[in-house]
Amino acid sequence: MQESADVVIIGSGMGGATFAYGLAQRGFDVLVVERGHHLPKEPQNDSPEAVFVERRYKPDDTWYATDGTAFAPGVHYVVGGNTKVYGSSLPRLRERDFEETIYPTAVSPAWPFSYADLEPYYVQAERLYAVHGTPGPNEPWRSEPYPYPAMPHEPYVAETVRRLSEQGVHPTTTAMGVDLRPGGRCIRCGTCDGFPCRWDAKSDSEICALEPAIATGRVRLLTGAYIDRLETDASGRVERAFGTLDGEPLEVRGRVFGLAAGAANSAALLLRSDVANSSGLVGSRYMMHNNTHIAAIDPRRTNDVVFQKTACINDFYEDMGDGYPGGTLQLIGKVQASMMKTHATRAPMAMLKPMAARSMEWLVMTEDTPDSANRITLDEQGRVVVSWQRTNYDRHELLLAKARQLLRAAGYVAVFEQRFDISMNSHMCGTAAAGEDPSTSVLDRDCRSHDVDNLYVVDSAFFPSSGAQNPALTIAANALRVAEAVPA
Ligand SMILES: Cc1cc2nc3c(=O)[nH]c(=O)nc-3n(C[C@H](O)[C@H](O)[C@H](O)COP(=O)(O)OP(=O)(O)OC[C@H]3O[C@@H](n4cnc5c(N)ncnc54)[C@H](O)[C@@H]3O)c2cc1C
Repeated sequence: MQESADVVIIGSGMGGATFAYGLAQRGFDVLVVERGHHLPKEPQNDSPEAVFVERRYKPDDTWYATDGTAFAPGVHYVVGGNTKVYGSSLPRLRERDFEETIYPTAVSPAWPFSYADLEPYYVQAERLYAVHGTPGPNEPWRSEPYPYPAMPHEPYVAETVRRLSEQGVHPTTTAMGVDLRPGGRCIRCGTCDGFPCRWDAKSDSEICALEPAIATGRVRLLTGAYIDRLETDASGRVERAFGTLDGEPLEVRGRVFGLAAGAANSAALLLRSDVANSSGLVGSRYMMHNNTHIAAIDPRRTNDVVFQKTACINDFYEDMGDGYPGGTLQLIGKVQASMMKTHATRAPMAMLKPMAARSMEWLVMTEDTPDSANRITLDEQGRVVVSWQRTNYDRHELLLAKARQLLRAAGYVAVFEQRFDISMNSHMCGTAAAGEDPSTSVLDRDCRSHDVDNLYVVDSAFFPSSGAQNPALTIAANALRVAEAVPA
């Protein structure tokens, strides 16, 4: 099978679909090549057992740690990529995240462009992904208000917010991408974060970017199309991509290629193809945030919330009281007993059920920093190997301690933690960092390869540093920015 287009995009997740949307607005002829198929709409979409226990939407893919341990990575190979199951929390990074940040034990490098450069594209991305929010403490300046008002807290959350405020912090609303516009499709159910949305009401990249792009008539989508190698011509430009279409050989030609297979798979594809790597940095500086899930139990209150993910605390983002930045505390979707069981495997359901009825779940997120020892490589069989050690973790320990202290003071007598391990890499980024200097970065400021002038990388691989906010809105804003830089 042979295909061709002016611009070929590999991957239809946050980066790829949004890039396609941006290019469609400019009139380009685009082909999106996606290894997965459409995620089916079916009753299992909102079944915790099907999604978390049976792992119905997880691909049959195994990656390896450097000691040979196999693990199932946090990826989803479907149209829309990881956004089909993401929590659609869509905050902006802060101005400082684009600048060099010195931590006590690590350095977070500057980006080759500033918050001000990206700000107009944040505005566009917030519109495209229907973001609901209210500016809160420690948010960066914005040239336009949020497109939609914040999701209101339910009574249980409002009471916790009140108790936390009494501890001197300033909880605020979470910027959320859900379709709660007048006449919108969101039914405000309890299975959003981590689940596919049967109602197409979650602002995922298929619904918000790819479908409108295809509707222009200028973007085509090839599903079941796995790309495993890029080939360059004599001048060093990418000429063809090779792979398989539902198992049969596939060859795709293009004038421009946009790589958006996700941070690890994009790096793997570049390494396999031996292109864009004169710096030797492809795959290197892999990051995935320092994250911990918390289940905080207040035995005196039943948590009857339906949509829990409406509050966050950013008081410690810029300064944890010692002059150095911390991170964010963010409510996540309400966890049910069967979801707890996937981690607390030995705990009986009879114990987990009352626990889940009285718990409230949070994500504690701090920045990890790029380190050349943390990287994606391929083993002799071409399989993905992840070298990963925690970096900048002292900041995470401090924020965790603050979170425990705050929650206990707010009535949560027991606080259980699940620190993210190597497999919980849904926020991965940084494997083809953008920068000014070709010897210390893979991409230029427009996310074009320093080496290959018709190759752009528009997924989270371009992040020079990870910041401490959820990555998806920044990936989308950047993809819109890069779409404007592609020469006609
Ligand atoms: C459960 C969960 C919850 C999350 N919650 C949030 C949240 O609330 N807020 C937030 O900001 N982020 C969240 N994230 C992270 C967010 O989804 C990712 O940061 C984002 O989707 C990354 O975008 P991407 O374009 O880099 O990759 P992806 O969205 O993963 O897209 C990569 C695409 O490339 C395809 N692909 C891969 N390899 C190939 C190949 N060789 N050939 C062809 N196609 C290929 C894949 O099938 C996929 O469609 C969450 C993720 C998960 C899993």
